[in-house]
Amino acid sequence: MPDDTPVIEIRNLHKAYGALEVIKGVDITAHKGDVVSLIGSSGSGKSTILRCANLLEDSQQGDILFKGEPVKWKGEGLLRHPADAKQVLRIRTNLSMVFQQFNLWAHMTILENVMEAPITVLGRDRAEVEKAAHAYLDKVGIADKHDAYPAQLSGGQQQRAAIARALAMEPEALLFDEPTSALDPELEQEVVRVIKDLASEGRTMMIVTHDMKMAADVSDQVIFLHQGLIEEQGAPDALFGVPKSERLRQFLSSTM
Ligand code: ADP
Ligand code: MG
Repeated sequence: MPDDTPVIEIRNLHKAYGALEVIKGVDITAHKGDVVSLIGSSGSGKSTILRCANLLEDSQQGDILFKGEPVKWKGEGLLRHPADAKQVLRIRTNLSMVFQQFNLWAHMTILENVMEAPITVLGRDRAEVEKAAHAYLDKVGIADKHDAYPAQLSGGQQQRAAIARALAMEPEALLFDEPTSALDPELEQEVVRVIKDLASEGRTMMIVTHDMKMAADVSDQVIFLHQGLIEEQGAPDALFGVPKSERLRQFLSSTM
């Protein structure tokens, strides 16, 4: 693979829910080490793009490429689905997702949550997975919580466990969907700190966020979505400093 092949490339993506077209031709490229943030009003299509990128959702038109490898489809339009289950698994495990509501398994300890997918999905050796899981929990600052159950943790700790769980898949990229939106302001910062650490390590990430300060701090590229289309995109200094679009100006003034 030549070094400039993007980790994630989305070309002319169209997505509809029945008759409702919610993504209307979107292009996004994330190279290795890029942090791309998606911002925009509720309902603009941010989550849908992440979910289409890692094939949690079908899409109707356009290409999705993982490290230069295009997703293979069968059918077309509303009947289009991925054709190759192994490819879906490979892409989904390599674009590991962190959700707003953490989605930890309530009946498993934090350690078991982190170990589950590498063992059951990837078939990795249990002892190695356990060792790595402790290291990822340490990395996100909750090594001491490995025996606790999710309900015994604060929201910020649960989200950090969810990040450790995503890292345990050793993905090529991390996809975050509003990772701090469910948290009280004082807990938000502990998750922001972890995301900043991951960005400074050179991780490839796509982050949907309402936190403009975090987006400005961590992103190489910020994309402002409006009604399923990219209204403006650019480096954070330009996009936040001198927004060109009136819609973006209005959006920023409503969030600050
Ligand atoms: P955002 O994350 O920017 O708030 P979403 O991607 O969740 O926006 O939603 C984009 C549009 O798609 C919205 O109009 C939303 O109501 C619609 N939508 C999202 N998920 C579904 C679904 N499962 N079925 C029908 N419509 C949906
Ligand atoms: Mg959303």
